[in-house]
Amino acid sequence: MRGVVFPGDRRAEVRDFPDPEPGPDEVVVRIKAAGLCGSDLHLYRQTAAQRAGNDTIPGHEPSGVVEALGPGVDTVQVGDRVSVYHYRGCGHCKHCRAGNVMWCAERRGYGGPIHGADADLLLTDARNCMPLPDELSYAHGALMACAAGTAFSSMHKLQVSGQDTLVIFGQGPVGLCGLLVAKALGGRVIGVDPIPERRALALQLGADKALDPGQTDVLTAVRDLTHGDGADLAFETSGSAAGQNGAVDCLRLGGKAVFVGFGVQDKTLNPSQFIGRQLTLMGSFVMPVYMYYDLAQFVLDHDLPLDRMVTHRFPLEQAPEAFALFDRGATGKVVLEWA
Ligand SMILES: [Zn+2]
Ligand SMILES: [Zn+2]
Repeated sequence: MRGVVFPGDRRAEVRDFPDPEPGPDEVVVRIKAAGLCGSDLHLYRQTAAQRAGNDTIPGHEPSGVVEALGPGVDTVQVGDRVSVYHYRGCGHCKHCRAGNVMWCAERRGYGGPIHGADADLLLTDARNCMPLPDELSYAHGALMACAAGTAFSSMHKLQVSGQDTLVIFGQGPVGLCGLLVAKALGGRVIGVDPIPERRALALQLGADKALDPGQTDVLTAVRDLTHGDGADLAFETSGSAAGQNGAVDCLRLGGKAVFVGFGVQDKTLNPSQFIGRQLTLMGSFVMPVYMYYDLAQFVLDHDLPLDRMVTHRFPLEQAPEAFALFDRGATGKVVLEWA
């Protein structure tokens, strides 16, 4: 099979690898769509010295067709359309059993330490294969494996309703998925992003306002749009210091925010920003595996056009071009697709 590697210094190459063989309770999935994610760029941008000897295939947004079953697999069949859950867990610890596979101490992520989805074939556990309804495209399946799952779980924590004004910091794929879910739940959504293409995409996908933090004082604008009170809810996807502070400072008294954006490693918030105003601030990370079923149902029932945020599609052999384009940051979702 072919797979992508990152040799370092913002380069991607396609190399040949041996086809994976499924062991007990494992399956091989033939990939049909694999999404590029902001978190892939952390690996892509490492130096050649940091990447030395690392030929792990990246990609943690897999969607495809079950190709081969290992011994003992009877929960999926060859030919099943699947979206693949984000982490492989041990399957038997209390977190795995509760569906919180992202908390498993033995969790293994695609792209590090195990081979990921930017390849013709992916080895995974049968229990990671989530059914992809026939009505949904493989691009939908790729989005539900990461961005849409992260956003859906976050909107769940925020309990968005038609009474709420929600400010979303960052209009990359996670922010845009949050926008689609929040709009379907009846919320009023203000998107914030410095990149014009991303603001345009947010407006096309239904944002009520799209603010440029380079041109507009976001806090003043949000207050003006909320009768001086501030927003009920905030969703921070940018990982920037400005976004993290904005998500706290834009809230009304008693408001709630969820943070999912990694990025800045410095301390950016001071408790004095939220003590007196009695804010509820939450972290969120991927989604529990059981929530996939509700997500798939929600996407179907609300006809959620997740794939409208896909702005660029490339075949695997053009992975170098795909990553170079995505690295420049002016795209929506970029996916690798197979015929
Ligand atoms: Zn991702
Ligand atoms: Zn576990």
